[in-house]
Amino acid sequence: MNTTGFPLDVAGRDLGDLLDRAKVPAGDGPPLLGSLVGGSAVAPQGEGTVRISPATGQPLFRAGDESTSVVEAAVARARSSFDTGRWGRASGRDRARVLARTAQLMEARADDLAELVVLETGKPIREARGEVAAAVNAFEYFSGLARDVNGRTVRDIDASVFAFTVREPAGVAGLIVPWNFPLGILGQKLPPALAAGCTVVVKPSPLTPLTALAVVSLLYEAGLEPDAVSVVLGEGPAGAALVAHREVDVVSFTGSTATGRHIAAHAGSQRLKRVALEAGGKTPVLVTANADLDEVVAGLTFAAFFNQGQVCVAGSRILADASVADELGERLAARAAGLLLGDPWSEATQMGPLISQQHFDGVSAAIETSRQEGVRVLAGGDPSAPEATGARPFLAPTVLATDDDGSTAAREELFGPVTVVQSFTSLDEAVTRANASAYGLAASVWSNDLREALDLTLRLRTGTVWINGSTDAFPELPLGGRRDSGYQAEFGREGMEFFTENKTVQVGRTRRKDWYTA
Ligand code: NAD
Repeated sequence: MNTTGFPLDVAGRDLGDLLDRAKVPAGDGPPLLGSLVGGSAVAPQGEGTVRISPATGQPLFRAGDESTSVVEAAVARARSSFDTGRWGRASGRDRARVLARTAQLMEARADDLAELVVLETGKPIREARGEVAAAVNAFEYFSGLARDVNGRTVRDIDASVFAFTVREPAGVAGLIVPWNFPLGILGQKLPPALAAGCTVVVKPSPLTPLTALAVVSLLYEAGLEPDAVSVVLGEGPAGAALVAHREVDVVSFTGSTATGRHIAAHAGSQRLKRVALEAGGKTPVLVTANADLDEVVAGLTFAAFFNQGQVCVAGSRILADASVADELGERLAARAAGLLLGDPWSEATQMGPLISQQHFDGVSAAIETSRQEGVRVLAGGDPSAPEATGARPFLAPTVLATDDDGSTAAREELFGPVTVVQSFTSLDEAVTRANASAYGLAASVWSNDLREALDLTLRLRTGTVWINGSTDAFPELPLGGRRDSGYQAEFGREGMEFFTENKTVQVGRTRRKDWYTA
């Protein structure tokens, strides 16, 4: 296990070269990372803040919180690259080839990228590998779509007019990424933006910039002109500067509802622009009396605890028919108690630590609040630090139970390994309670009665519904929320269309009469 920071000598492999471009010469201590602007590192002002790896408990890197001048420089590069048309007006095939080559390079370095994911997030290696594969899949999918950017033709408006629409690249795209799937969510934004012909400034989470820097380095290696993509490191103010910038045409954000609200309010402060907001969630999971309980227990263990529960669509609120709720709660608690927390590099590990001590403290406080609100704890609820892995922010998978919809556990996104079991006595009641949530990202329905499952699905007011499933996302399918979960789906053709603008072209087919003399 790596415990020393760079060079990233993990299992005999030095991963440092994936980050070479971003490294800035510095004295002792963990390596100092700069923003990647037009292909070169920009040294941060000052010493940079040390990030502790949740996987090792050791310092991993130092990075700056960039001043707006770095945002200015990155946006200027993206603007000039876009305006020359070198990328946006390149043929679809040329854009496709760069994205496909990047996918190949990522695949060739998949083990190394997975190690970086483990180092920066603490998630188990099995999950990290899955995340890399998902990002490769996204690059491949959007590589195909780069060759298929279509408008439509409208023939029969009027004998004098033939019309068509053109989808043009939107311009400079600002992409703001959270820490829970730093590579996966980058894959939801970066390939469609580039496939559409946009140039890009990425702002990763300050907790997890490594994979963004690595993937953008691979894009350069694949032949992308460096000005077309930059990575700006930093915290909220760097993101806010990007959002408000006059020369940024569209913004795609994934993160918390609070930040999304801020972005929605400020995006138009200097000029009007479109924003895509993928925000928080509290996914209701409806389990009817017709569900297969064995399948439900296995499925919901994954839905609740995969990625340490740090998933926007985690199954964090289970509404079960009263006839099965108690048994489900007990069995889920038993499964949770049996999950193996530990060394993220071990193949046997089922859960790793949370992303940071600060986040651990927040989730732990919410569990404590739940106790005080009278919520029952069926499993977990206590911090646990397995001997083998030292004092890192491990939180035991926690199963709560309450029928109080106003409780913190039933209402709020805790974004950790915590789920709550509630019971209902009629399907109408279940739908009403699920739809009363402020969030509207996703829901899932577990039932072996197809009509029942479909009826519930059509009545739930969320962007995605899984029937007898959870959490999966595919690049082919749009993924987006409603209400406090945001708006404008990403993935799918819809996700790529966001990075384009419509142009309507009317062609006069016949010579017009003079309006004034006819
Ligand atoms: P966050 O909102 O704290 O940060 C997300 C990103 O926004 C980071 O890069 C951050 O630096 C940046 N940021 C912070 N303040 C900003 C501002 N004022 N202007 C512009 N950018 C700013 O979220 P997080 O803690 O990194 O991620 C967890 C949240 O992400 C959870 O709420 C989760 O539900 C959500 N999420 C949603 C989806 C989805 O698809 N809907 C997917 C994954 C995560």
